[in-house]
Amino acid sequence: MRLLVVEDEEDLVDALRVGLARAGYAVDVAYDAPAAQEKLQVNTYDLVLLDLNLPGGDGFQLCRAVRAAGNGVRIIMVTARDRLDDRVRGLDEGADDYLVKPFAFPELLARVRALLRRDTGGTSVLEVGELRIDTARMEVSLGGRALALTPKEYGVLHYLMTRPGHVVSSEELLEHVWDEHTDPFTSTVRVTVGNLRRKLQEDGLIETVISRGYRLREPA
Ligand code: CA
Repeated sequence: MRLLVVEDEEDLVDALRVGLARAGYAVDVAYDAPAAQEKLQVNTYDLVLLDLNLPGGDGFQLCRAVRAAGNGVRIIMVTARDRLDDRVRGLDEGADDYLVKPFAFPELLARVRALLRRDTGGTSVLEVGELRIDTARMEVSLGGRALALTPKEYGVLHYLMTRPGHVVSSEELLEHVWDEHTDPFTSTVRVTVGNLRRKLQEDGLIETVISRGYRLREPA
């Protein structure tokens, strides 16, 4: 899952980047409103963490513009403004959730997970055949055997597990699992899928569909 952090406090950005990457998310950062708007037009994000007081515009305007453009990306407003009317306005402008600074990082993570879970019917456990992912604990198992995956391997498997039986292209995986600093011509997706297959010890589970991408085999 790929997140956009829109925030101008560098210390907070650094902490979020590290913590979110550790939790398996790819993270892009925009330090002001125009940069955020540009990234939202160019890239596909699963969720946006949006600060309200930004250089070059405010989070309310940005949120409204995103919704007006028909973009339904999940948005959590993260701000020091804790007045009731700000919270209400944030939600009315199209934010999905609102978190007041200072916040505890585990709470932010839990809110991120809660919003992303809406794509999978509200459950934090995904099962496809013998494969099982507990997204709250970041635990993966196959037939009861626990797998130790890197954050990228986890990200790829999680993405495929939300679309079993569907072909997912390398570009789509790059877009959702890696951040903007990844060279689009790199072999990193192929290498990561190869490592994932080795850990799964089941060659046919992630199929290669020639010149189209990868497909997680659906249980028979
Ligand atoms: Ca700010």
